[in-house]
Amino acid sequence: MQKGAIRVQTENIFPIIKKFLYSDHEIFIRELVSNAVDATQKLKTLVSVGEFKGELGDIAIDVRLDKEKKTITIADHGVGMTAEEVDKYINQVAFSGAEEFLKKYKGQENGTNIIGHFGLGFYSSFMVSSKVEIFSKSWKEDAAAVRWECDGSPEYELEEVSKEDRGTEIVMHINEESEEFLDEGRIRSILEKFCKFLPVPVTFEGNQI
Ligand code: ADP
Ligand code: MG
Repeated sequence: MQKGAIRVQTENIFPIIKKFLYSDHEIFIRELVSNAVDATQKLKTLVSVGEFKGELGDIAIDVRLDKEKKTITIADHGVGMTAEEVDKYINQVAFSGAEEFLKKYKGQENGTNIIGHFGLGFYSSFMVSSKVEIFSKSWKEDAAAVRWECDGSPEYELEEVSKEDRGTEIVMHINEESEEFLDEGRIRSILEKFCKFLPVPVTFEGNQI
């Protein structure tokens, strides 16, 4: 198991993310589904250039709600990430975007529409989560599956786990203030608003959006 601190030079980013996005929390679904779409499209590209020769299988993105565990999960069968990639793209790169964002918009109250431009995409999950887990298995042949966990402080954990299928699952443990999202109708309407005409099918509770 690897433990470390997410590289953020300024200060704890999470309270600021929450503050900036106060009015528009529901965009976390759009951000995470679009990451799942990107990962799936990358895999299709690898197929078309002949680099990935395995079975594509079902590539639908699945959104799941567990009211008892208070989790929302977004699962894809895209390229996945190795431990090194999680380190690079989640621990380092995403926060470089966050820092840029902070520098530019510090002191302003409404950063709602610009968040996507700063690579804060994945971190928008922390607007509604007390803890976020990533389970991921890369398309690369001998890649070990990994689990990353972060509770909103800059400290994260990264460890090897077993995961059968290729791709990424983002598990959001929904915080108390955001329990409104633990509602089927609410999630479905957000998905219908943001995720209707995507190049990869999205299913929620077994039904295609
Ligand atoms: P952006 O999408 O603008 O690059 P994000 O914060 O949304 O920024 O994501 C950061 C990076 O994390 C992505 O560029 C990608 O490399 C990686 N990533 C996020 N979600 C996934 C996923 N579901 N599958 C594979 N890689 C992912
Ligand atoms: Mg993104």
